[in-house]
Amino acid sequence: MAKPVPAVEDNDRGFWEAANQGRLVVQNCSACNRMQMPPMATCSSCGKKDHLEWKDVRGRGRINGYCVQHDTRVASLREDMPFNTAVIELSEDPDIKFFSHLPGVPAGKVPVGADVEVIFQEVEPGQMIPEWKLA
Ligand SMILES: [Zn+2]
Repeated sequence: MAKPVPAVEDNDRGFWEAANQGRLVVQNCSACNRMQMPPMATCSSCGKKDHLEWKDVRGRGRINGYCVQHDTRVASLREDMPFNTAVIELSEDPDIKFFSHLPGVPAGKVPVGADVEVIFQEVEPGQMIPEWKLA
């Protein structure tokens, strides 16, 4: 599946750099000890910006639910339609969610509630993205 290359910005640079090293990180506020995803310039809970850090997580999660996409405006994904878009809850904090195409799982055959683990896929030379597979 040809996936879009991330447009790296200041707020998420640490996330993508970690992915390139095979690590999954989530932004964490050390002032209120809360994780947030996607990364932002300030903590969405306490508003502080000087306490945000990158926290390594285990890369384990659970499938919360999914949909099957039959159309998309992302040109690189069109040849693989229809495809799954699953919501993954991070094991450390189920409020932290990721999206996944669940490589290897046929469209519409997603086992909701199943455990998953992170993998990394190269979308262009030197740029990895996290994906999820059944554990
Ligand atoms: Zn905070």
